[in-house]
Amino acid sequence: MYRIGVDIGGTGIQAGLVNLQGEIIGQKECSTNVKLGFLKIIESIRKLVDSLLETYNLTPQDIEVLGFGVPSFINQQGKVTCVNLNWYEEDFITTLRETFPEFKVAAENDATVAALAEAKFGSMKGYPYAVMLTLGTGLGAGIIINGQPFVGAHGMGSELGHVVIGINDFKCKCGNNGCFETFCSATGIVRHTKRLIRIGRKSCLVDVCKGELNRLSAKKVFDAYRIGDEVAVQSINRFKKYLAIGIANIINGMDPHIIAIGGGVSRASDIILDGLEEEIRKHILYKKEDFAKVVVAQLGNEAGIIGAAFLEQKQFG
Ligand SMILES: [Zn+2]
Repeated sequence: MYRIGVDIGGTGIQAGLVNLQGEIIGQKECSTNVKLGFLKIIESIRKLVDSLLETYNLTPQDIEVLGFGVPSFINQQGKVTCVNLNWYEEDFITTLRETFPEFKVAAENDATVAALAEAKFGSMKGYPYAVMLTLGTGLGAGIIINGQPFVGAHGMGSELGHVVIGINDFKCKCGNNGCFETFCSATGIVRHTKRLIRIGRKSCLVDVCKGELNRLSAKKVFDAYRIGDEVAVQSINRFKKYLAIGIANIINGMDPHIIAIGGGVSRASDIILDGLEEEIRKHILYKKEDFAKVVVAQLGNEAGIIGAAFLEQKQFG
């Protein structure tokens, strides 16, 4: 038996055939043609899945579950709104069931899906209470309890990126000020660094960006940190301080065994993990006790496919 995981992203869609050991056997992909609309995107996924089955000479009966990861919240009625995909209250689950009647269909938010993959086959394997933070453009989070995704009573839980942990100099897209993701994401790092430069702080990043600050990226800030650029050091230290506060909140709230950090920002894991444990300890309540190990995610982009493949079907409204 096999499973199929489909990772739906704003620019591309990947469908992977996964064996029961969590290894990707084969993969097909297409670009996400957002302009064509919801139904055409689902149609293009049907083609990817059919082509996977054909390539590996399989039938739908060989597939235990066809799982999907979407960059969005799925509500209790199975509907999805995702601005990046140009989807507004689309009847996602019903449409999947109609498009793939021969399959058991399952779906979750992409950060939850990545967490499931890391908990089953990657950095968080063997730990019953596991949390993954995906630090990229935003901060996605997934909570796994005893091997199963936890998304709460109404499906909207695990949005740890919107836990308020301080006061920031710009508002979050959700309307609040001080969300975890506004401090601890690539966007947060870039915005704060730009602000320091705009108020007149000297930085090599101005030359690195050839004077055009819209070329600034989190990677450039981490690179400048490595050579001791003062603005970059201040910006990254601020990021690390808030990462520790955010993680301390997770520990105070749910005390997981392990927390994995993934996403593009985690490529600078040597910088991120350096001193993090001590900083977290400052902010947790029970300072003398053991607390969650913080590790770097292992599966990279493959987590989206593997995690989706290992979702289980659940009831929607
Ligand atoms: Zn927010």
